[in-house]
Amino acid sequence: RSATEIAQEALKRIDSVDAKVNSFLLVTPEHALAQAKQVDDKIAAGEDIGPLAGIPIGVKDNICTQGTKTTCASKILENFVPPYNATVNQKLLDAGAVMVGKTNMDEFAMGGSTETSAFKKTANPWNTDCVPGGSSGGSAAAVAADECVVSLGSDTGGSIRQPASFCGIVGMKPTYGLVSRFGLVAFASSLDQIGPFGRSVEDCAVLLNTIAGHDPKDSTSLKVEVPDYTTFLKPDLKGKKVGVIKETFGEGLDSSVAAVTQKAIDQLKDLGAEIVEISCPTFRYGIAAYYIIAPSEASANLARYDGVKYGNRVEDASNLLEMYMETRAKGFGAEVKRRIMIGTYALSSGYYDAYYLKAQKVRTLIKQDFDKAFEKVDVLVSPTAPTTAFKLDEKFSDPLSMYLNDLMTIPVNLAGLPGMSVPCGLDSNGLPVGLQIVGNVLREDQIFQVAHAFE
Ligand code: GLN
Repeated sequence: RSATEIAQEALKRIDSVDAKVNSFLLVTPEHALAQAKQVDDKIAAGEDIGPLAGIPIGVKDNICTQGTKTTCASKILENFVPPYNATVNQKLLDAGAVMVGKTNMDEFAMGGSTETSAFKKTANPWNTDCVPGGSSGGSAAAVAADECVVSLGSDTGGSIRQPASFCGIVGMKPTYGLVSRFGLVAFASSLDQIGPFGRSVEDCAVLLNTIAGHDPKDSTSLKVEVPDYTTFLKPDLKGKKVGVIKETFGEGLDSSVAAVTQKAIDQLKDLGAEIVEISCPTFRYGIAAYYIIAPSEASANLARYDGVKYGNRVEDASNLLEMYMETRAKGFGAEVKRRIMIGTYALSSGYYDAYYLKAQKVRTLIKQDFDKAFEKVDVLVSPTAPTTAFKLDEKFSDPLSMYLNDLMTIPVNLAGLPGMSVPCGLDSNGLPVGLQIVGNVLREDQIFQVAHAFE
């Protein structure tokens, strides 16, 4: 089939299911067909085509796409059309990928269910009464519902891995600095990473091959050679040491998720891995530290939305201060305001040492726990999330219980490590469970090998 035919099929699929699933904030047929035509023209002319040539892809709506609206699912950026491409998006175009649309998300990536989107709620394709997870819920649902082959998400505290787990697909957060953040709308800059979603580990490896690599436009981008991640997809695990993080099997873990995860660990053993119990006692402070650090960074990053430099502005304010205040009051949703208030408070001079500084110290301790663990094992595993997909509205009005869902994913961001969620079975309600596999800094190779052997 030609790239044009493949693009048409994806668009047709979106047409038929997206009214139900609502993965996309914006479908981009003209863009997709033009991009597909370029690929077909290259093939006809006998020219080289890129590794993703003709592959339909969904892009999270916090990744800047030149000429195509990028809203972060927020009213304040409702009509924002970026004048440039995020580096990842430019790389996708160069590799021949065909973007079919921008996917729904929690507003500014703050949330774990995609329900804080100002525009629509996305349903979980496995059970449309349930959330797809978040914040990259649209990107995960789109792949799970076959509306595109792969997609991009961003992960600050679990926003790729948790929705991958809820939607029964593979999702990966790379090592901090491996993928350029240039053109990713910042939430918490020291934690944010862009990463791939796919139906298989191999699809994620191919997509990571394309988006990874040093970028002079991102000062935190690592200067490293990017290997071909598909070369690590080997079938067995002989000699691999897999650590099971003891603390992630404690309080708050759904019993059905625990049972499915335990089976997955047994399977790893059958594949030849040596299973080692690992203790990471500081993990329990991860959520508390994260919900100081992430809102603090967010409160600074979101200061730019003042009605002057970006996005919407209220019309009828009588002076500048009123204009700032009303623009932000109208433009931001409740969860974003909550984060800005927490962050501003935590950073205020009298409280800085008690909250922000303390949280940074906890962050160091968590990193040290990981360092110790990786002296003994090649990868660490845990459930990706303590539960499977919950019902729409179930946690929406209870932010604390929403935050607690990030228990297992957050330490990985705080330490800057790579982590992946791979599907490992179904719970007692027939909903997918994800196994989280965490590697040491830049040891994506280990994760790919274990995940591929397991899937
Ligand atoms: N659920 C977490 C939060 O609300 C993580 C979000 C993310 O990774 N973007 O902050």
